[in-house]
Amino acid sequence: MVIVVREDASADERAEVMRLLSAQAGGSASVTASRTRAGYVVCAPECVPAAKLVRQLTALRAVARVVPAAAPYPLASRELVPDGTVVTVGAVSFGAGAPVIIAGPCSVESAEQIEAAARAARDAGARLLRGGAFKPRTSPYAFQGLGLPGVELLARAGAAAGLPVVTEVMEPGLVPAVAELADVLQVGSRNMQNFPLLRAVGRAGRPVLLKRGFAATIEEWLLAAEYILAEGNPDVILCERGVRGFDPATRNLLDLACVPLLRTLTHLPVIVDPSHATGRRDLVAPMGVAAIAAGADGLIVEMHPRPDDALSDREQTIDPDTLARLVRRCHAVRAALDHDTAGERGDVPEELAAGAGR
Ligand code: PEP
Ligand code: MN
Repeated sequence: MVIVVREDASADERAEVMRLLSAQAGGSASVTASRTRAGYVVCAPECVPAAKLVRQLTALRAVARVVPAAAPYPLASRELVPDGTVVTVGAVSFGAGAPVIIAGPCSVESAEQIEAAARAARDAGARLLRGGAFKPRTSPYAFQGLGLPGVELLARAGAAAGLPVVTEVMEPGLVPAVAELADVLQVGSRNMQNFPLLRAVGRAGRPVLLKRGFAATIEEWLLAAEYILAEGNPDVILCERGVRGFDPATRNLLDLACVPLLRTLTHLPVIVDPSHATGRRDLVAPMGVAAIAAGADGLIVEMHPRPDDALSDREQTIDPDTLARLVRRCHAVRAALDHDTAGERGDVPEELAAGAGR
């Protein structure tokens, strides 16, 4: 269960809440306090919200709300923030309605390449620039990325184009340096359960893009998000990027059902990466559009000014024109869905709503 504590509660009053819950949990190990989107909360995942305990807690002046949250990830659970979390990055909002498209190359390769990519991403309608500088490559002989100088090039290109930037960080020790330069920190699929890294990005003061492990269950993924939230970072964006399937026809198996499912389980925004999910450039746009139709809050897409020259993941990298078409279609799909919802609410004239249904 989670206890939302009143903002004006004194230190003694907060301690009283902790004491009561610790006694119930049989020790203090599983009772933690953190700042969240819902305010300052005390979290006791193992506490059964028995009627007597709920009564005792509700009677305390410090307690604003008792959230029964039965899920093992109480801070990520939908119950804590029923209206959903909006994560803002500069002027961009994830989870506020309009789909947000992030685009850029798999890897930052040079100043010239990332600057051209940034301009192309912006002109196509993308709102953030991506680019990997610390690359988690399966082979130690493959291009490993430019490291911190690559993050600097990315930040400079983003600033010149007016786009915030997102990049992957793999080591807890490098989190502060990358957080200095990047607007959003990406935790990659292979590191979804790198717990020291999750804790480090939880303390970094930057929004986190948490990719799903390629063999992770939804519960494991939400527990990974919980690590970040428990450190006091409320700005977590989940990213479905495909899970390992049995068929090599596509690189991974895109689990689009997880998008509407996550809506019921968590308040965190959800985006989709159709590039790593499919591994094929011809499938990126159709699956990107499908993700928006399934309710995703945005996409992260690999785009290169010259896809055939990309140093990594060229098979799944689209060109700027394809990106521009994809962005337009994403907005068209979102608008069609919004229009239909408005029709259900009776906000549009009947003849228009009827037309939309045909
Ligand atoms: C990436 O986005 O560059 C990447 C390596 O993705 P993933 O962690 O999903 O494989
Ligand atoms: Mn890639």
